[in-house]
Amino acid sequence: MFRIIFGLIAALLMLSVLKSVITSVSSILSAVFSPSNSKPSGPIMPGQGQTPIAQVLRRCSSCGTFTPESTARKVGKGVSEIYFCSQECQTKGVAKAS
Ligand SMILES: [Zn+2]
Repeated sequence: MFRIIFGLIAALLMLSVLKSVITSVSSILSAVFSPSNSKPSGPIMPGQGQTPIAQVLRRCSSCGTFTPESTARKVGKGVSEIYFCSQECQTKGVAKAS
């Protein structure tokens, strides 16, 4: 009878040890493979490798390139606001619109 109880306790101990080992190993592995665990849930744009956090991207209405709002050229006001990535696109876009 005691043997069975002892065996059960030993099995439980083994399981908990294994569990903790697996948890620590997986946490180490995840830390090694992804150093930045806390990724911001901002908009992820294709082709924008190192986009700063909370940077609003505006689509160029002429060529379709995504440009940060700080560097984009804004034309119009309110609802009719449109953005361009460069002077060239702005000239083209305005010519097309009018
Ligand atoms: Zn453009």
